[in-house]
Amino acid sequence: MSTRPPTKRETEEYLRCGLLGHEWEDYPQDDWHIDMQSIVDMPVSFLCVRCQTIKRELWGRNSGIVVSRNYVYSLGYTETLRGIRDGYDSNAYTSRQSFRMEYERRFLGS
Ligand SMILES: [Zn+2]
Repeated sequence: MSTRPPTKRETEEYLRCGLLGHEWEDYPQDDWHIDMQSIVDMPVSFLCVRCQTIKRELWGRNSGIVVSRNYVYSLGYTETLRGIRDGYDSNAYTSRQSFRMEYERRFLGS
């Protein structure tokens, strides 16, 4: 995994994901799907096209229930959001408030 600092563009994409949610596309992972395949559960996986986070879920075949869910975050994503949070007073603002203020600063010209 890359250890270089994220570019300005990547930082902006990470911020959008942290604030607005990920932008998922189908991302079949054959090894994992074969391992997790069962009569009762359907493995599915998605990739965020902005930050490269992977989401894996098991869906009940006959229930539509999400049986399990986990995320694999890129290092850049987690470190960038932590860096943004750390830039604001954590006693005064929640993480989401920090992301909103950073979003305003970067995209809304405040
Ligand atoms: Zn994302």
